[in-house]
Amino acid sequence: MNFTYAALPMRVVFAPGALAKLPAEVATLGFQRVLVVCGPRQEATAKQVFAALGDHAVGLLPEAKMHVPAATAARAVALATELGADSCVAVGGGSSIGLGKAIAKELGLPVVAVPTTYAGSEMTPVWGLTADGVKNTGRNPRVLPVSVVYDPELTVSMPASLSVTSGFNAIAHAVEGLYAPDASPIVSLMAAEGARALVTALPSVAADISDISARSDALYGAWLCGAVLGATTMGLHHKLCHALGGTLGLPHAETHTVVLPHVLAFNAPFAPAATAALSQAFDTTDPARYLWDLADSLGAPGSLCELGMAFSDIDRIADVVTASPYANPRPATRAEIATLLRAAWEGALS
Ligand code: NAD
Repeated sequence: MNFTYAALPMRVVFAPGALAKLPAEVATLGFQRVLVVCGPRQEATAKQVFAALGDHAVGLLPEAKMHVPAATAARAVALATELGADSCVAVGGGSSIGLGKAIAKELGLPVVAVPTTYAGSEMTPVWGLTADGVKNTGRNPRVLPVSVVYDPELTVSMPASLSVTSGFNAIAHAVEGLYAPDASPIVSLMAAEGARALVTALPSVAADISDISARSDALYGAWLCGAVLGATTMGLHHKLCHALGGTLGLPHAETHTVVLPHVLAFNAPFAPAATAALSQAFDTTDPARYLWDLADSLGAPGSLCELGMAFSDIDRIADVVTASPYANPRPATRAEIATLLRAAWEGALS
């Protein structure tokens, strides 16, 4: 065995109804002047947060957008400065938490994250900012939230379709964490357990989006998968999804759902330990086929064509992916990437 593991410093509060514990969490952390940020669709929840924080809430910015446009980030930084905020509470999916991280990156304000999807950004020190159509990302320990309040009740408003694809987005972190060059035993345990929890919970969530027990299990899985994302270096799957989202604007969670079985099938022969862990977690002999069938049975999109990608963009994306190096257990030529993309575009798992 040969590994390096760095535990990330963070508090996690997890419970149905945990939102009610947020004021106490903020008080424990000693924050006095909190700026609340969220996306337009989380404004009602953010207003609840704002009211619950009483005198400690100094502002509410409901402007988070996908991929954190630089102009939105600049507005948030200016508002935090103007209000003399000493901290930020980010309520919502990866976009809202991304906006909180943009403030943290610029001003060093600590962030408390209240996630409402399964995307996992709350567990990572990774920031993203988009300017002139180009998304830049980087790691900075100061954007890692100091505390994460997971409340499964906040996820019941996700429709079944988003719940499923957001769940697959989380499973993708686990899959790539298992074969990451910087995998470690504890992170691999989190990955296998996170993926297991999600594949078990998602059918129940899709059948009844208000099933709070299934919602708790899914969010628990998402937490673990997010922790894996924060601890390891992602491979070909994330590289492809980043290129498809960044270059063509394809939707984040849906793209992850379509691409994941193809990349796992491609990598599996070169990642025997990861394949064994996933086989055990899913109780199958073919984890890629298992994920493919699960997504299909839950009504998720099955092809990049369905997501609006033009066939003629396959070569462009293959070029973007091969233009810079990335970690992956199986080296992939440009031709192999184009073949994989063609299969994902058609929606045919070989
Ligand atoms: P998102 O935050 O944009 O949310 C997707 C949609 O779902 C939005 O319209 C949002 O308003 C809505 N939504 C969110 N929570 C909801 C709820 N509970 N009920 C109903 N609707 C809800 O997308 P996401 O998938 O959560 O995150 C994707 C973004 O996060 C991408 O920009 C991605 O790059 C980024 N991300 C970053 C990291 C990181 O470590 N930095 C990790 C994962 C994702």
